[in-house]
Amino acid sequence: AVAAIGLTACGGGGAGSGGGNDTANADPADLTIGVAMPTQTSERWIADGNNVKSQLEDAGYQVDLQYANDDIPTQQQQIDQMVTEGADLLIVAAIDGTALSSQLQAAADSNIPVISYDRLIRDTDNIDFYVTFDNFAVGQAQANALLVGLGLKTADGGEGTATGPFNIELFAGSLDDNNAFFFFNGAMDVLQPLIDDGTLVVPSGQTDIEQAATLRWQQETAQSRMETLLTGSYNNGTVLNGVLSPYDGISRGIITALQNAGYGPDLASTPKPLPVVTGQDAEIASVALINQGVQSSTIFKDTRNLAEQAVTAAKAFLEGDEPEANDTETYDNGNKVVPSYLLPVETVYKDDIQSVLVDSGYYTAAEVESGQ
Ligand code: BGC
Repeated sequence: AVAAIGLTACGGGGAGSGGGNDTANADPADLTIGVAMPTQTSERWIADGNNVKSQLEDAGYQVDLQYANDDIPTQQQQIDQMVTEGADLLIVAAIDGTALSSQLQAAADSNIPVISYDRLIRDTDNIDFYVTFDNFAVGQAQANALLVGLGLKTADGGEGTATGPFNIELFAGSLDDNNAFFFFNGAMDVLQPLIDDGTLVVPSGQTDIEQAATLRWQQETAQSRMETLLTGSYNNGTVLNGVLSPYDGISRGIITALQNAGYGPDLASTPKPLPVVTGQDAEIASVALINQGVQSSTIFKDTRNLAEQAVTAAKAFLEGDEPEANDTETYDNGNKVVPSYLLPVETVYKDDIQSVLVDSGYYTAAEVESGQ
């Protein structure tokens, strides 16, 4: 569940509030919203882009949606162009959260409000609002799902029947993405006490986020780190029981490395069952693996709801108002605490696929079966 809450209007006059652009009296059809998304290699961002675009269009606005192939200069250039072409508002999911300062200065100079989408843009005064999920809670949920998979906890938060000790390894996301720190810190909030008391052991000793990080969240990078960990710490017969993974693509890289090393084919196989592997985003390929008992869990973030919050905030700015924040404390971007709207997340194990993902219309049963 979302930690904070109590609705407050966001303080601090952003570029949007009564700025130089008289968008409040304009016909929405005359207003263009630039939407900058990081990459199409992960399906969550495709869903985010589609949802934001269609909901903005339903509200009557023009939309300029751009993807940047996870390439920082491409994203910088796309945002520069949106500003030059006279966008009335920007919604930005950054690749590198520290690399957009000059683009956002140009936006501020033109009184263009900026909404930071999912990932916090850092080291600038020139963002007005942040819509995201409760990212610390994501990390805690991933760690709890690891403990549930190991049998140390039950899914409803009770004591499990297992006692350990269990061998685990830790993976983190891309260090240029502010979320990576929230996920990892949330997870370590749950795991560190169990590492300290010996219930969990990290045979590689790699427990710092810098050691665990995966540049650009890439599956291949995770696979090759997992291979290195297996060679370095498990060639002597030590068995790996669990892996904390922050994102489904990383999880699939980890699982491939493990299967190649003779683990599996699934969580129940002997003599070396696949370790419990967590995830995030409920990507269809991973949901299928969860359904098959290969990946253990994922964290579902309903991007339809995130898009809706972004659109609500965009409308507020364009109508000359301030969007409503439900958190005004957590997200300090290095320059200021950014008023935020945080959404809750849900853990999905095999038993939840039907009720959470299929019944809600996110996926069909056929997609879960085929993984596509
Ligand atoms: C998002 C995650 C996603 C990751 C990799 C993060 O910023 O919050 O949902 O798994 O990026 O795309």
